Amino acid sequence: QNLATGSARTTALTTLRRVFGYDTFRGEQQAVIDHVVSGGDAVVLMPTGGGKSLCYQIPALVRPGTGVVVSPLIALMQDQVDALRALGVRAGFINSTQDFEDRRLVEAEFVAGELDVLYLAPERLRMQGTLDLLSRGKVSVFAIDEAHCVAQWGHDFRPDYLALAVLGERWPDVPRIALTATATRATHREITERLGMPEARHFEASFDRPNIQYRIVGKDDPKKQLLRFLREEHEGDAGIVYCLSRNSVEKTAEFLERNGIAAVPYHAGLDAATRARHQARFLREEGLVVVATIAFGMGIDKPDVRFVAHLDLPKSVEGYYQETGRAGRDGLPSTAWMAYGLQDVVQQRKLIQSGEGDEAFRRRAASHLDAMLALCETVACRRSQLLAYFGQEASGDHCGNCDTCLTPPETWDGTVAAQKVLSTVVRLKRERGQKFGTGQIVDILLGRKTAKVIQFDHDQLSVFGIGEELSEAEWRSVVRQLLAQGLASVEGEYGTLVLTDASATVLGREREVLMRKEPKRPAGRAKAERP
Ligand code: ADP
Ligand code: ZN
Repeated sequence: QNLATGSARTTALTTLRRVFGYDTFRGEQQAVIDHVVSGGDAVVLMPTGGGKSLCYQIPALVRPGTGVVVSPLIALMQDQVDALRALGVRAGFINSTQDFEDRRLVEAEFVAGELDVLYLAPERLRMQGTLDLLSRGKVSVFAIDEAHCVAQWGHDFRPDYLALAVLGERWPDVPRIALTATATRATHREITERLGMPEARHFEASFDRPNIQYRIVGKDDPKKQLLRFLREEHEGDAGIVYCLSRNSVEKTAEFLERNGIAAVPYHAGLDAATRARHQARFLREEGLVVVATIAFGMGIDKPDVRFVAHLDLPKSVEGYYQETGRAGRDGLPSTAWMAYGLQDVVQQRKLIQSGEGDEAFRRRAASHLDAMLALCETVACRRSQLLAYFGQEASGDHCGNCDTCLTPPETWDGTVAAQKVLSTVVRLKRERGQKFGTGQIVDILLGRKTAKVIQFDHDQLSVFGIGEELSEAEWRSVVRQLLAQGLASVEGEYGTLVLTDASATVLGREREVLMRKEPKRPAGRAKAERP
């Protein structure tokens, strides 16, 4: 274009130092920026915290005109713009949270060429008015953030993103850069196709976070397990604890406080002022624990988060990776710890079945959950499995820094156990209209004459008491693994266990079922716990 490559490179580096105050580019940044500054399209796959923003902010500053950034994270735009302004960058945004006057002002600045960076919500680009506005000014680069939102099979699909293909048609000479932190190979292809960027160069950073230790433990008393984990390994450290519901966020934060760990809750049900206060404390103070729903963390940049704990199962591997990725941005050893149990699986399946969305949406959600379960139940290295999910290869199949590498789980032949569970499901299915959860199945296998067993004559079933060789916890683990391996499924309000197509292969003794043995938990505790 109008800048020779050599001098463009110098300008980019000068901008990095003068405007942002950093010495050197990180990883792929330099290559991406060179390419975009010289007018090329780019698709950038970089994990959260990898430094995507500079990849478009610097081209926006170096190329003549305004860099237009399309982002679905409307709530963050004000912060992003404030941060840029603080660095002396002329930035503005247009979205629905703004009043008419403010919008007019930003529009006028853009047309007058007085903006370096303009943030836009994707729905704006469906409006003719916005396209006309963009034609009246000069755009230097289009950046499409969270580009995986264009993928219809992805977990964050946004129909508004489909309209973004228009940018390439109307402004063929303006380079486009699509960025995402969560993309499987398939999503990557979809981004290129749907945004109409066949010529784009692809940049892919490694997703490996070697300083994060991944651990997933069986859940029995999650709050106490969490407390033990914190006391034994992260006393006084800053960290994030994720829970699914607002209620469990509140309860867990209170529980930690009662047990002498400084913790604050964060969820969408708290008023904005409280949320802002808790977030500010987390960023400022040392050693504060935030207990949060996944609403927390987007755009949070705290380098010394020493652990991320999950008390509930994330809905997808992407979500898990993104959330755990908030730990250890400073490169120091950090832990991603999760407690996961049968109830999580039942609950998530229920949510999927009763949730909004059409059949295709439900199938998608179910396959995301399946991938997450497979990660939980794997006997292989968690890191390799995680990287494989993102289409990347680990440097070996043993990372040495995840629980399955550190203490390889024992496996056992669970074929007979699987048959016992599935046969019980078959027996119960004959009782039309009656719905029994996993609890009843375990009681039957263990030969327990509970009131509910007696009431339905389940002590008369041929399977009654045939499973005394395993404990209740072991049976629950068997059921969980059947669910994770797709050999059983759950249905309906009570989480009724049902057969799948694959169940028949087990019942018909056509296949073996390899299972993961529950590791024995260390006994004893350091300090007393308050309930
Ligand atoms: P992403 O959008 O990929 O999640 P960000 O663009 O927010 O990541 O960058 C994450 C953090 O890394 C930010 O604090 C950013 O200022 C910092 N950062 C990015 N690039 C560099 C660099 N070259 N040198 C030092 N810090 C950087
Ligand atoms: Zn490993």
